[in-house]
Parts: sequence; structure tokens; C-alpha cells
Amino acid sequence: MAYSYEAPVSQSLFDRASAVTPGGVNSPVRAFRAVGGTPRFMVSGTGPYLTDADGREYVDLVCSWGPMILGHSHPEVIAAVQEAVSRGTSFGTPGEGEVALAEEIVARIEPVEQVRLVSSGTEATMSAIRLARGFTGRAKVVKFAGCYHGHVDALLAAAGSGVATFGLPDTPGVTGATAGDTVVLPYNDLDAVRAAFAAHPGEIACVITEASPGNMGVVPPADGFNAGLKELCAANGALYISDEVMTGFRTSKAGWYGVDGVRPDLMTFGKVMGGGFPAAAFGGRGDVMAHLAPAGPVYQAGTLSGNPVATAAGLAQLRLLGDAAYAKIDAVSAELRSLVGDALTKEGVAHTVSAASNMFSVFFTDRPVRNYDDAKKQDVFRFTAFFHSMLEQGVYLPPSAFESWFVSTAHDERAIERIAAALPAAARAASEATA
Ligand code: PLP
Repeated sequence: MAYSYEAPVSQSLFDRASAVTPGGVNSPVRAFRAVGGTPRFMVSGTGPYLTDADGREYVDLVCSWGPMILGHSHPEVIAAVQEAVSRGTSFGTPGEGEVALAEEIVARIEPVEQVRLVSSGTEATMSAIRLARGFTGRAKVVKFAGCYHGHVDALLAAAGSGVATFGLPDTPGVTGATAGDTVVLPYNDLDAVRAAFAAHPGEIACVITEASPGNMGVVPPADGFNAGLKELCAANGALYISDEVMTGFRTSKAGWYGVDGVRPDLMTFGKVMGGGFPAAAFGGRGDVMAHLAPAGPVYQAGTLSGNPVATAAGLAQLRLLGDAAYAKIDAVSAELRSLVGDALTKEGVAHTVSAASNMFSVFFTDRPVRNYDDAKKQDVFRFTAFFHSMLEQGVYLPPSAFESWFVSTAHDERAIERIAAALPAAARAASEATA
């Protein structure tokens, strides 16, 4: 497909990048392969806006895939980072900042009695399943198709996010032995979980699920699904791990736990808690966390874990996220959902705006989407046309039909008006698109 607008500086940066980096990017979805065209190289961000290397400004509905919940360059977060940097960037010793961040997490999320800081969501889920295996002495992990938990070998089977975007069933490089310990089940299907426990008695260490999935597009848990998982895990001696890397500190002050109140044994966090820096965490029951080195035998470590600059950014961001901030984000999300839905309806485009608290995405189908198979049945080509029209008009959406859209406290009336102004043409483009 040819696009009517150009991005010559981004294109030349992408050419340079492609010479030295596989696919020209450091994380696959950034390459625009699902939608085509030239990925935008961003040079700065302020509030709800990003500016690319060609000098074009966009309203940002990706928010760095979740972390920038206060918008870009929030003055108080930047000040906290500058203050921390002025004292040094890494010590490889304990420091007060990491204690304060851990205290903030424990104070907000009641099931978290102890927490360990790491540097990415992938590390958090990888460490959580290692701990679950070490604690239970069992090997198997249950996960759900379309849920993405980072690029952990054992968790890549039928994953969402980039794996969904590229339609990869699995990935080369993960051995049969590793994949063999992963049981992949359809999302929102408790009977399948019951059957898996029956088929593997005494073998399942944990069930890991996105607290409310956002990596196959937004597909919230059906009523009672998370509670059912918790019950089945408890009845079968397995741990229930709720991956809140995306939902944590976003869908409420206490993340998705604050929405459904189902108490996990272990939880994982990332994105928002790092304030735009590489900080993530896993935590939960004190008796389980006590198995982690050096308190216990399950090894886990990190040179930059609890980094003082990252923890200062995360702490500054979390301290600004009180009730008023969540009320604002929820209101922005509700307004955008209705604007997008109205624009698509007006052009007769079959769609479903799917929301979980303030996270949402648009499926280009009017059939219900309860799991990954349903999500894949949408008209992806209509999303592609919609995406490029929005991009051309200065609105930056996730470059994939299988990702959540993210908003921030910085999305003000002006930003929303710019999105509203772009929607009619984008909806028309979606309606006129052909497969
Ligand atoms: N878990 C979930 C639910 C995620 O959405 C992601 C990333 O998008 C991860 C884990 C992995 O986090 P990271 O990209 O920081 O490794």
C-alpha cells in the first residue's frame, strides 16, 4: 500500500537502523510491519504529544505502551529524576529509593506482602514462574492463548502482543523441553482449566494470566473467571499468578486487583511503576517470597535491580497517581471510546470498542470477543486503513490491531478535539478499505 504522506528523516534513520539492528528496531512491534509504512522516530514528548524527527506532532495514544500515564515529561517526574541523577546513577548496593518504592507498592496492593524489584516485565514474570516452580516443586505452567507475559521462553507459546501481531504460533529458539512444560488454554474457559488440572495431577506449579488481558487487544475476564482460577489453583496446590505488568497502577490505584478484588498468590508489575524507566517487580504472599534468595533457595538477581534513577522516577509517578488522576484517566478513556464508536458507526463499520477500566481497544468486528481466536477474526485490513489515516492526521495509535490504546492525565480537551477531528476521515478510510 502506498501512503500519501512522507517522513523522510524517519525513513533515513530507519535505513541506518536497519543496517545495524535486526528489522531496524529494538522491539518488534515498533517496526510498523503489521501496518506497513515508515516507523516514526520520535525525538521528544510533552504532555499528550510526541514530536517525530520530521518535526511532525502527534497526539499519543500509545504512551510508551502504558508507562507514561501522566503524559510525557511530567515536571515532577523529571525533577525527581534530575535530583536522583545528580547523586549518581547506580551503586550496586541497597538504597533508600528502592525501599520507598517497595513500600509504596506494598501499601497500595494488599496481597503483596513482599516485593522484589527487577528491570523489565519479562524478568518479573520469568522470576515469578521460577519461584512458583521452586515453591511447589512442580514443573508445569498454565497460560492462556493471547496473553503475553514478556519474552520468557516458557511463556511465548501462543502469546499475544508482537507474537499476535505477526501471527507466530511459537518462536524458534524455544526448546521442546521448555515448551513441553507449558500448557496453553483458551482464555475465559474455566472448563479447560479444570480439565488441565485433571490431566496433570500434582504437576502444575502455577496458572499465570494477565489480570485483564491487553495483548490480544483488550479482552476483559468474564465475570467469575479470575475468581474461578484462584479457586482451582487453591484446590490443586498450584499458585495463581496475576500478571499486572500492563494493568498495575493503571486500571485503578491498586491495578486490576483494585477492580476485581481476587487475591493472587503472586503478582507481576512493570510499565507505570517505572515512570518511563526500566523498573518492574514481582511480589505476593510472604511465605512464597521467603523462598527467594538470599532469604531462601530460589535464585534471582540483577545488576541494575532497584536502580536509584528508575526508582526515583517510579516513586514520583506513583505518588502523583491518586484518586483524582484515575478519575481523569477514566473520563478521558470514556470520552474517546464513545467518539471512536460513534465515528465508526456513522460510516457503517462493524466494530466493538472493548474496555477494561480505562484500557481499551477497537476490534473491527461486531461479533463478541472473549478470547484470542475471536480477536483474530476481526477485519485487520480495516484497522490498517484507520491507523494510517489517524497517523496522517497527527494521531499516534498502536501500530497493531492487537494492542491496547493508552491514555494519560495529560490528555486534555485540546488533545481530545484533535483526535475527534481526525476520526471521521479515519472511519471513512476503514469503511472503504478492502482486504
Ligand atoms: N506482561 C505483560 C502483561 C505485558 O504487557 C508485558 C509487556 O508488554 C510484559 C509482561 C513484558 O514486559 P517488558 O516488555 O517490560 O519485558
